[in-house]
Amino acid sequence: MAPATGRPPHTTDRGGHFAVVDPSTGEAFDEAPDRRPEELDPVVDRARAAWPGWRADPAARRTALLAAADAVEAAATALAPLLTREQGKPLTESHAEVARTAARLRYFAELDIGAQPITDDRPVHSRLRWRSIGAVAAIVPWNFPLQLASAKFAPALAAGNTMVLKPSPSTPLATRMLGAVLAGSLPEGVLTVVTGREPLGARLASHPGIRHVTFTGSAATGRAVAAGAAASLARVTLELGGNDAAILLDDVDVEEIADRLFWAAFRNCGQVCMAVKRVYAPARLHDRVVEALAHRASTTVVGPGLDPASRIGPVSNAPQLAHVERRTARALADGGRAAAGGHRLDRPGYFFAPTILADVPADSPVVTEEQFGPVLPVLPYDSLDEAVRAANDTGFGLGGSVWSTDLDRAAAVADRLECGTAWINHHAELSLAQPFAGAKDSGVGVAGGPWGLYGNLRPFVVHRPEEA
Ligand code: NAD
Repeated sequence: MAPATGRPPHTTDRGGHFAVVDPSTGEAFDEAPDRRPEELDPVVDRARAAWPGWRADPAARRTALLAAADAVEAAATALAPLLTREQGKPLTESHAEVARTAARLRYFAELDIGAQPITDDRPVHSRLRWRSIGAVAAIVPWNFPLQLASAKFAPALAAGNTMVLKPSPSTPLATRMLGAVLAGSLPEGVLTVVTGREPLGARLASHPGIRHVTFTGSAATGRAVAAGAAASLARVTLELGGNDAAILLDDVDVEEIADRLFWAAFRNCGQVCMAVKRVYAPARLHDRVVEALAHRASTTVVGPGLDPASRIGPVSNAPQLAHVERRTARALADGGRAAAGGHRLDRPGYFFAPTILADVPADSPVVTEEQFGPVLPVLPYDSLDEAVRAANDTGFGLGGSVWSTDLDRAAAVADRLECGTAWINHHAELSLAQPFAGAKDSGVGVAGGPWGLYGNLRPFVVHRPEEA
């Protein structure tokens, strides 16, 4: 398809713009503004200037955010196809992402944490109130551009902060459109979307006008963001990677769980921070688990996200495809076997065959690090202690799951997982009301529920003498 700009695919960028590629073709189809770091100054100034008005009136904020949620829903038929075009995911998944964005705006708009009395033995009435912080910077990745952006702006704006939001240069377009949609409901400067390539994010993270940097992405970039924010002592929230294990207990009904387990690993082409990234199966069931997952991997329709038949789209961008290829090739070189897939698909675009790996050594990088793609290793275990130890033997601690017909037994094993969320008989499902936080290198700070709102607020206590 011709690029929307009329420029041929893969042309170098026009001054001040960069090309955006459709991963289902590998061709550029549009472009986005390539803001320079110095262009952030007036943007941050506008966010700071908008803060006093925005924080002053909670009722007006609530009304504006509820109107914004309605506007997002009304724009779904434009937002979802654009998201699929630049990110690759099936259109149904893009619609779900837009719906989640609107739902999250409503949830935080209506969340009222109020003021709390503090009781102690002094003759004073102390009341704890929560106040906004100022201009917040949000930096997000390419796997869920809208949903992860909303996890930043919905609580931040509901708390009374203003925000400068930077999407990944790989997926800038739907976020720009979302920014335009939200601008219809929000006062000028409350939320500004800026697009551009590095060092734009680095400058935003270290900008002296920013009071809170909230980042979602890789652990390596998270470290750089935290170091940058240290210069201005801005608060930092980091939602980083994961290497979630699914432990199957020996009483599991393999056929009954196989669909759920497969989609917990392969939704969004496996590009989910809290996807199942490793499966531990009792040695006795290992081959059946591999077979059940391989059957699904080889029969699921892979294709462009805009084709209604596609259940799995392409890998989202060329560097990620190269990463998935490298990690898979290494697993095979290490002695692994591809029970399904194991290679790119012979067609244009960034398609990789859904891959189930068996016989991979425990120290192969596809097991020890994030693959973040449509590749899943299955590993046998002999004792449950061994499985729990292996599941926890990672620098990450985002999520994990235990699968069994005995829920109490599964819950006892789940208690032993070193992670932020442990699921039983499913994986990667979150409610807007629950805290989402990783252990170890998976993050700093908490998103979701009231805890996500507190992360965007500072406590303010008033002491008042008791009446005589
Ligand atoms: P990334 O770290 O490469 O990029 C994330 C964002 O940071 C992008 O907007 C990027 O442009 C920007 N960036 C790059 N260099 C920067 C710098 N020096 N300073 C400031 N910003 C910079 O991550 P990615 O490849 O886009 O996303 C995949 C990663 O995100 C995976 O590790 C995945 O697990 C993680 N992730 C985590 C969560 C979570 O909630 N824990 C959710 C989704 C994705």
